Amino acid sequence: MKKVVIIGAGGVGGVVAHKCAQASDVFGEVLLASRTKSRCDKIAAEIQQLQGKTVRTAAIDADDVKATAALLERERPAVVINVALPYQDLSIMEACLATGTPYLDTANYEPPDVAKFEYKWQWAYQERFKQAGLIAVLGSGFDPGVTNMYCAHAQKHLFDTIQYVDIVDCNGGSHGKAFATNFNPEINIREITARGRYWEKGEWKETDPLSVSMMFDYPGVGERKSFLLYHEELESLALNLKGLERIRFWMTFGESYLKHLEVLGNVGMTRIDEVDYQGTPVVPIKFLKALLPDPASLAPGYTGKTSIGCLVSGKKDGKPRKVFVYNICDHAACYQEVRAQAVSYTTGVPAVSGAVMIAKGIWNQPGVWNMEQLDPDPFLADVAARGLPWHVEERPA
Ligand code: NDP
Repeated sequence: MKKVVIIGAGGVGGVVAHKCAQASDVFGEVLLASRTKSRCDKIAAEIQQLQGKTVRTAAIDADDVKATAALLERERPAVVINVALPYQDLSIMEACLATGTPYLDTANYEPPDVAKFEYKWQWAYQERFKQAGLIAVLGSGFDPGVTNMYCAHAQKHLFDTIQYVDIVDCNGGSHGKAFATNFNPEINIREITARGRYWEKGEWKETDPLSVSMMFDYPGVGERKSFLLYHEELESLALNLKGLERIRFWMTFGESYLKHLEVLGNVGMTRIDEVDYQGTPVVPIKFLKALLPDPASLAPGYTGKTSIGCLVSGKKDGKPRKVFVYNICDHAACYQEVRAQAVSYTTGVPAVSGAVMIAKGIWNQPGVWNMEQLDPDPFLADVAARGLPWHVEERPA
């Protein structure tokens, strides 16, 4: 029986802990560690009540490499699932190298003082993980994560050449709050207010934030306005999909959400630099996070569905082909099962499936890998079995 250590006890960490406890055939022991231990204890109590299973808890500041390495040295897990914030990625990777522990996360590193998410900092660890004989899996959430694997599936089984990919992400749910984000507000707002970017014919093209949109008919939800954003999986997929000519990412936002965001931006509340407030340094976006609902708290009463997929076109046997590979997830069903909303659920389940791939030795090549560089078949089968079934729909080419 293997042990798993989960770092981070937010909305996603809660789902990961529930799902690791459910996977007792793989993980005999689960430790949930985070900055605030009381949040771990609350999740552990919920799991005890729903599943009758024990999850151990611990306090850890994952910015502290020595303390994190000491925790891993003591626990000796088969894998660490990092679902804290992107700021902790590098320190947890260092602790994994120091202790010989395989690593997995769901979001790429971002320096706290620049809203710039890029893989270069984590890719720089490639040689060190190779030399240590260890695997590190980057971005095993939904997007990045499952979307990378839908593309990998398309490349492996459905196409000879992929030319165009549009990743489309819709949260068609309703939480009844005037304004809230579905995952960590700071990370979410940094992502949405950044300049848009997509890749075409070997070049990155930039757009003003939320200035390009299209209508898309999402299965299970309906037609929604979708805005072009930069999203981290574009960086690795542009490199790893052979023959690719263009890749873009689209996400839906309602009018009211965009109006709130515009006003918050106009008054300076989304700034990520320090401002002086009566002698105390304050980062406005961090203060805003303290005021907004905790994403995990949105789960009770959340209705509607998420619908996320990859529209892929290219050639098969010399003929044009277009497919849509997607998943639909129901907020209320997620709450029923693990007391979470669907955005946390769709991130947490693939993180557990990735960790299962590592723990079972199905993915074992030493080095630092993006998802599409690994075998999609066992992963997508596992993700479907754990709660995120997926579908392939043929579209007119
Ligand atoms: P939350 O803000 O709800 O939770 C983050 C957790 O990390 C909190 O429990 C927080 O502790 C803990 N944490 C923060 N700093 C530290 C630290 N230094 N040491 C230890 N623990 C720390 O975020 P979410 O659960 O919504 O998101 C988790 C991750 O998932 C993020 O990286 C996010 O970007 C990623 N994500 C990925 C998606 C994907 O599809 N790939 C989609 C959605 C999210 P405390 O309670 O003390 O604040």
